[in-house]
Formats: sequence, C-alpha cells, structure tokens
Amino acid sequence: MTKKRLTLHEYINGIRAGERFILSRAITLMESTLEADQILAEELLEALLPFSGNSVRIGITGVPGVGKSTFINAIGPYLIKQGHKLAVLSIDPSSEISRGSILGDKTRMPELAQSPQAFIRPSATGSTLGGVAQKTRESMLLCEASGFDVIFIETVGVGQSETLVHQMVDCFLLLMLAGAGDELQGIKRGIMEMTDILVITKADGLYKAPAQQAKKEFQNALHLFPQAESQVNPEVLCCSALEPEGIEEVWQAIQYYYQQTQSNGYFQQRRQKQRLHWLHDTLGQQLKHLFYTHPAIQQELSWREKEVLEGTASPGKVARALMQKFIASSAQSN
Ligand code: GDP
Repeated sequence: MTKKRLTLHEYINGIRAGERFILSRAITLMESTLEADQILAEELLEALLPFSGNSVRIGITGVPGVGKSTFINAIGPYLIKQGHKLAVLSIDPSSEISRGSILGDKTRMPELAQSPQAFIRPSATGSTLGGVAQKTRESMLLCEASGFDVIFIETVGVGQSETLVHQMVDCFLLLMLAGAGDELQGIKRGIMEMTDILVITKADGLYKAPAQQAKKEFQNALHLFPQAESQVNPEVLCCSALEPEGIEEVWQAIQYYYQQTQSNGYFQQRRQKQRLHWLHDTLGQQLKHLFYTHPAIQQELSWREKEVLEGTASPGKVARALMQKFIASSAQSN
C-alpha cells in the first residue's frame, strides 16, 4: 500500500507538533531524488528555518568500537531526565557506496530508541559523502523545528566524515581508548585540532588506571597544540558508559564550552561561517548535478572519457571542451 502524500501544511504542522512519525517522513522526503519531492522538501525547509537553530549541536567521533553508541545510550536517558529532547543523526562514510554499514542502524541504541523524547535516524545514503552530509544537516534543522534541543551527530573517526560533521556542529567530541596508539586509533592530527572535548572511554575495571594515565598524557599532548580558535582549551575527561560514571561530567564540559564560546562570540561566528560554507557547498553540488544531467554532456561524456582513458586527450583539454559545450547549450536553452 502506498502512503498518502502529505501536503506542505501537514508536514509543517506535524513537525511543529513534535510528531516523530511525520518528522521521519519529512526526512525521507528530503532524501528522495524525485524532483517533485525535492521541491516540496525545499519549501518545507524554507518554512521551518525560522524555528531551527535552537539546539545544542554536538559532534561525536571515534573509531568503530570506541564506544560511541554505548555512550549516547548512556547520556541520552540522563539528558531526557533533565527535560531535554534528543536527536541522534549520523554520517556514515560507508553509506556513500552501500547502505550504511560501519555505523549500522538504530538498533545500536535500543533503549534510547524506545523513548518518545528521543529520535534516532541512521545515516542518509547518497552518491557522494558531501551529499550525505547535506541531508544530515537538513535533517538536523527539521529535528530542531520539531523541538529537539540536543542533537548528536555521530561519525566514524576515519576519512573525511569528521570534517563534514565539524562543519555542522557547535562542539566536537572525540572519543578515544586508553592504551591504543594514535595510529592504531586511526586518529589523524587534524582531528585532534578540531576537538573541543576529548573523552577517554571505558574507564572501568582493568581499564580504569590506564584511562587516568592516558588522560594525563592527552592533557600534556594538547598543550603542545596551538591555542584553539574558540579560545577554550579542550578538556580531557574519562568516562564509563557501562558503570555509568563520568557521563554527567561530559555534559558539564559541553555546557561549559557553550557558555565560554557564547560569551566570547565564537559560537555565533562559527554558526555564521557554517551557514556560508553550506551555501557554497550546496551551490557546488547543484552545479555538478546540472552539469552531469545536462543532455548535451550526457551525449558526449562517455566518448570524451574514452579519450582520456586512452591518453589521446588530456583531462584539462577535455574538461574545457565539456564546459564550453555546457555553457553554450545552457545559453541556448534559456
Ligand atoms: P561504537 O562502534 O563506537 O559505537 O562502539 P560501541 O558503543 O558499539 O561499543 C563497542 C564495545 O565496547 C561494546 O562491546 C561495548 O559493550 C563496549 N563498551 C562500550 N562502552 C564501554 C564502557 O564504558 N566500558 C566497557 N568496559 N565497555 C564498553
């Protein structure tokens, strides 16, 4: 049975009323590649934009197995008890190719998924990681308009996905294990520099003492980094999501970071920069889409690619020829 198509007003009213089912359908609408859906999704986003932005946006990264989902499963109920509504979104780099496989889906947080105060959505899929990230960002805006005031965006600490998450959150958490070398954890220097709060996970049982030791080492290591752009020194904390212990402290550190960056103006600056970034990113993606779906380009692309493959023409020359073709045929069709 096909579902009845909702109108713009039904979407707006449902989302504003906090109906999770409608929110979920709106995100699916946004992820659709059908043109009619995309037009409706754009109108919806535009209408809801004034109601977005009022949340604490937190990025969480760390290699698979570090304890991200267990951590969110532990901090979630704590936040809900405090009266918050929590949305968990993710950017899974593997969703670029296949249906999200590194992070998996919502079954990773079974308890939290049952709470009416929580909304958990697995990563969007898309032909490019940039496209996946854009959908996640738009989902975040819809969640905010639906009253979710704490948003976690989770990703895996490998590849480009953490840079994309960093570009849409206010505070970036890096989860690390004690005792595993940096290389082993796949953590690149760039990620440390993006980190606002560093959390050493699984600080319990046999891991407790090594976690405390690692905390000191990370604190020392972070001193060697240049002053953070936010002017707030990254805090290093230990926590156990299983005990649970140290969860409240992580939330306090996030709040402290918020207070500091809001009073020194960095928070506002960061969001402004992010909006500009997303404008250019969207423009770039739209241009690319226009180019590749243009009939004139589709006609020529495969034999032009062949030329490059066979080495009979240089990529630069072919790109220029295709661009000229695109511009000339776009001008004609206008
Ligand atoms: P993710 O891939 O980063 O989401 O990691 P998971 O949350 O799935 O955790 C990976 C494994 O570590 C699971 O077997 C968890 O039970 C275990 N784990 C997670 N948090 C803790 C913790 O605080 N203490 C201990 N001892 N184990 C944990």
